[in-house]
Amino acid sequence: MDLPKLSASLHDCQRCQLSAGRTQVVFGTGNPQASIMFVGEAPGFYEDREGEPFVGAAGKLLTELLRSIGLERSDIYIANVIKCRPPNNRDPLPDEIDTCKPFLLQQIALIQPKLVCTLGNFATQTLLERKVGITKVRGQVIQLENFVVFPLLHPAAALHQGNLRVPLKEDFQKLKAVLEQMSKTPTSSPSTLSTSKAPSKETPADPPTQMNLF
Ligand code: URA
Repeated sequence: MDLPKLSASLHDCQRCQLSAGRTQVVFGTGNPQASIMFVGEAPGFYEDREGEPFVGAAGKLLTELLRSIGLERSDIYIANVIKCRPPNNRDPLPDEIDTCKPFLLQQIALIQPKLVCTLGNFATQTLLERKVGITKVRGQVIQLENFVVFPLLHPAAALHQGNLRVPLKEDFQKLKAVLEQMSKTPTSSPSTLSTSKAPSKETPADPPTQMNLF
């Protein structure tokens, strides 16, 4: 399996109710060899129309924030947890996430990024497999088995709540520092960075520890 084949296999996906209201499946876009991947929530109106993630207002802000730390969209790969637009941009439902999550995991397995930047609650909770608020874990480097998760506020949240713009910019500055740290240890995986371990699902989550990278 490669990314184009995975994408083609989802072209006519009817696995959940979202297929009824979507224009098209929004699989993902960007550099398939990227070492940094961004994961958002679900396509919105413009994404559904264009077939690409983050092409609306939140996408424009994401592009600006990437540029502010020296990244172009062509440097990264972007996908969403959910590949089809929920009606009226409502939150994805748990069964929709459960249905679509395996395809996100397959994308990650094929791209093999070192760092997966999760934007907002849904992407963060889906990859960490626990119900943790984004405001608690944002800006932390969290080691999973095969990659590192770096949660950031969702750009759409900052568009709706102006007071989140500064914290969002701060998240990107932290990301820049993480990337600089990673580039200093090119032979090693990000696991050599100072990271928080993802708390086990069975035990109550410890308060996230602030990593000593910052
Ligand atoms: N918000 C998301 O989470 N994903 C998109 O593609 C667009 C907006």
